[in-house]
Amino acid sequence: MARVLRVAVPGPRRRWFEYLPPAGGPAADALPPGTRVRVPFGGSVRTGVVLEASDDPRIEAGRLRRVAERLDDEPSIPPSLLRLLVWAADYYHHPIGEVVRTALPAGLRRARPAASAPAARAWRLTGKAAAGSALARAPRQAAVIAALEEAGRQGGEPCLAETRLRTIPSWRPAVRALARKGWVEPLAVPPPPAGSGTGSGSKLAAPNESQARAVEAIAAAAGSFRAFLLDGVTGSGKTEVYLIAIDHLVQSGAGQALVLVPEIGLTPQLVARFREALPVPMSVVHSGMASGERLRSWEAARTGASRVVIGTRSAVFTPLRRPALIVVDEEHDPSYKQQEGFRYSARDLALMRGSIEGVPVVLGSATPSLETIHLGAAGRCRRLRLAERAGGARMPEIVLHDVRRLPLVDGLSERLIEAIGERLRRREQTLLFVNRRGYAPVVLCHDCGEAIECRHCDSRLVLHRAERRLRCHHCGAEQGVPVRCAACDSAEMVTVGSGTQRLAEGLSERFPAARVLRIDRDSTRRRGELDRMVRAARDGSADVLVGTQMLAKGHDFPRVTLVGVVDADAGLLSPDFRAPERVAQLVTQVAGRAGRGALAGEVIVQTRRPRHPLLTALVREGYPAFAAEALAERDTVRLPPFARLVLLRAEAPVRAASNGFLAAARALADEIDRPGVEVLGPAPSPMERQGGRYRAQLLLRASSRTNLRAFLRPWVERLAGVRTPRELRWSLDVDPIELG
Ligand code: ADP
Ligand code: ZN
Ligand code: ZN
Repeated sequence: MARVLRVAVPGPRRRWFEYLPPAGGPAADALPPGTRVRVPFGGSVRTGVVLEASDDPRIEAGRLRRVAERLDDEPSIPPSLLRLLVWAADYYHHPIGEVVRTALPAGLRRARPAASAPAARAWRLTGKAAAGSALARAPRQAAVIAALEEAGRQGGEPCLAETRLRTIPSWRPAVRALARKGWVEPLAVPPPPAGSGTGSGSKLAAPNESQARAVEAIAAAAGSFRAFLLDGVTGSGKTEVYLIAIDHLVQSGAGQALVLVPEIGLTPQLVARFREALPVPMSVVHSGMASGERLRSWEAARTGASRVVIGTRSAVFTPLRRPALIVVDEEHDPSYKQQEGFRYSARDLALMRGSIEGVPVVLGSATPSLETIHLGAAGRCRRLRLAERAGGARMPEIVLHDVRRLPLVDGLSERLIEAIGERLRRREQTLLFVNRRGYAPVVLCHDCGEAIECRHCDSRLVLHRAERRLRCHHCGAEQGVPVRCAACDSAEMVTVGSGTQRLAEGLSERFPAARVLRIDRDSTRRRGELDRMVRAARDGSADVLVGTQMLAKGHDFPRVTLVGVVDADAGLLSPDFRAPERVAQLVTQVAGRAGRGALAGEVIVQTRRPRHPLLTALVREGYPAFAAEALAERDTVRLPPFARLVLLRAEAPVRAASNGFLAAARALADEIDRPGVEVLGPAPSPMERQGGRYRAQLLLRASSRTNLRAFLRPWVERLAGVRTPRELRWSLDVDPIELG
């Protein structure tokens, strides 16, 4: 008989805490893992989650305190999800209480009992209703059943939103009575309005041969864990493969699908596409949601009411009653990695989740990460290839345009400008990609060369001319634009380089009749603005789209026939070892926006390094050839995926504090026997000063996960004991995606 409960409590401490079960309440065994409880913690009371019951307390009986209150009747976190969280806490060496807190929607982090979660919004026939006469004496109940059956006949599910049941007098008691009989069940998500979704699967394109083969392989793995890489060129119809596979596994087997998409990829257009193709209850989950809405989605997924969950990174923690399939779209996207607090990779956790739940996981991309390609080569992930564009569209041709010594106007060569003019005459669209928002990335003095830098960071201020401000893109500091140089008092301040603003302005001057649409973080700050712009781009009410990488992701603009990459070099020159991979992905993805419709596409990449070996491999032979070469390079220099990295970062207002901490960390590491684990540093971060804080780091490189784990455990435990100045912050990043 278990005597104590081990509870995950949010806080910087690494482990769980032990408590006695609530006074006069159930025994410890009666509070299943995943149940939320209120517990005394120091002088306050916090919300925690039961991890397990134990009959072997680590704390002496006299010092044990009691759980103050049980918050859930049914665990908020089902067992398989709890296993994932415990695994993640261990793998990322992050406190379990914080991991649990990250996973829970805000609405469940508070003390509110889950029972007060919003009531059902829709009802569905369970299929258990007895035939005809059974309801002869209950006309209201019969009317409810009839209405639901009618909805079922019109296509989709026999299911209606409460708003549509209201036409039946006293519908509420009737529905309750039916629910007690088990003839109807609540759905937390309203079904799509009649007419929007038609019969099952009818809005899906007939798959072509390679799509059919991919779907078949995925469907054959139903009910067991299997990882797939859906490696399909841009426009090859990966979405269609997801939809048909989901249709298979979810509609027929009554399971649930979890679909992860990159942050910027979660547009109403995508959700509409899913709703249209899959007439089943669906929930959408993302971090920007209002907390009530988020909680409803969570509950709908947990109870099994919603059959498809689409969401960004944190949706990987959505509980599922009957999981059947997990999809990670654009698996290479960096937004799957959380870059602060609990630094997890949703892509990697999706694989682990699939293995815990025993369901297939599909990672899809036109530009797979080198990690995933490597998994494929190692036989741990099956590669499904879609080599051609669906619907007959051809792949665009990519040209490297050497702009050395050529005059550039607002960053554009004569050749690119001519190509744009041609598109305007043909009433086709152009997409110009530039990796910097704002007007100009550098403002400097023509006389003495002094550049205007951020006072808090090792970086230059970017001119935002429309707003007449200089802004730091790293810490957000801003200031007015000075008329004179602070160093020599010259009045000749000049701007160097072009951002999205300058490019858009230059184009409007050159082509006054052209409708230029600028899409970047500044122009889409207002809620709904990005969707409005993407719609405008799609319906042809813009001629030239100028944007940052926001534009590169997944959008389908059928009238774009020219893509210009204004400057491929900035990325190539970055010191980060992943920079070439990112550039190749970006170029391939933006290029993939061209010629998706009936019209052929052309891609012009401006560069001053036309002979860069990786860039030429990409352009001449395509992404797979690039990836093969890049992987060979990583292998020789022993970088991921051929080694494992962990970054210990520290930052403080004074340099000595971060250095001191890392030196101590290094000394602790040297006390531990660590075969196969190298410790490099400490060294200043690539951008040492940011937001007024000095940043430094220690890099660990390990030959294998086993070696790394054996070292990290004792090391992190000792690190937690190091006394640090109050202003110092440190964090551990397992599998970092940026070494900055
Ligand atoms: P990807 O995600 O691989 O870039 P999409 O899924 O966006 O590609 O598909 C590109 C276009 O091809 C879409 O307009 C889609 O409707 C269309 N498409 C996909 N599959 C087929 C098919 N089998 N037959 C005809 N058109 C298709
Ligand atoms: Zn000067
Ligand atoms: Zn700054």
